Amino acid sequence: MSDISQMNLEQLAAAIRACTRCPLHSGRTHAVPGEGPPNPEIMFIGEGPGFHEDRQGRPFVGSAGKLLEELLAGIGLTREQVYIANVVKCRPPGNRDPLPEELVACKPYLDRQIELLQPGVIVTLGRFSMYRYFPGQSISRIHGQARQFGDVLVVPMLHPAAALHQPQWRSTLEADFQKLPQIIARAAPGRAAEPPPEPRQLSLF
Ligand code: URA
Repeated sequence: MSDISQMNLEQLAAAIRACTRCPLHSGRTHAVPGEGPPNPEIMFIGEGPGFHEDRQGRPFVGSAGKLLEELLAGIGLTREQVYIANVVKCRPPGNRDPLPEELVACKPYLDRQIELLQPGVIVTLGRFSMYRYFPGQSISRIHGQARQFGDVLVVPMLHPAAALHQPQWRSTLEADFQKLPQIIARAAPGRAAEPPPEPRQLSLF
């Protein structure tokens, strides 16, 4: 099957592992489709695999992942209870920012994941996943503020790696995580999400 919009989660993961839609495939050890329960209340969307994620084929298993797990524990959640994915599924060389053409090539996978998972809350981690919903906005102004898109509440947050590099941002991230239980309680999971704005966002890169 080649029509991404018709795939189930297993077919999608298999397609991502075999993907050659952009040049990132040639440098990967493993693609990283994402992981979590099939009906999550909450989905986290990061940027792309780093060194450890590429080695293991799993999202957020390095130092940023450790911080993410600590932040989740702070609100009584484990990583097994949430879905974790990225905007690009293969590691950009040297952990550089994903290129516009790589984001475009990978977008149908994330679109379909969200369509199938129907999370009540999406947390974007960092700029690249934030741009999907909040093109042209500044993370320093809108972080931690939930906005409704159809039936999904989207909350932009700093990337955990940024908080590791800039310790003063850690408390910002912790404070934003503390808002999540209330946001989850407000959400109405189980219905289709409105598509995010179309690629106007890409002109920003
Ligand atoms: N950073 C990300 O954005 N995603 C990962 O999976 C790991 C680190």
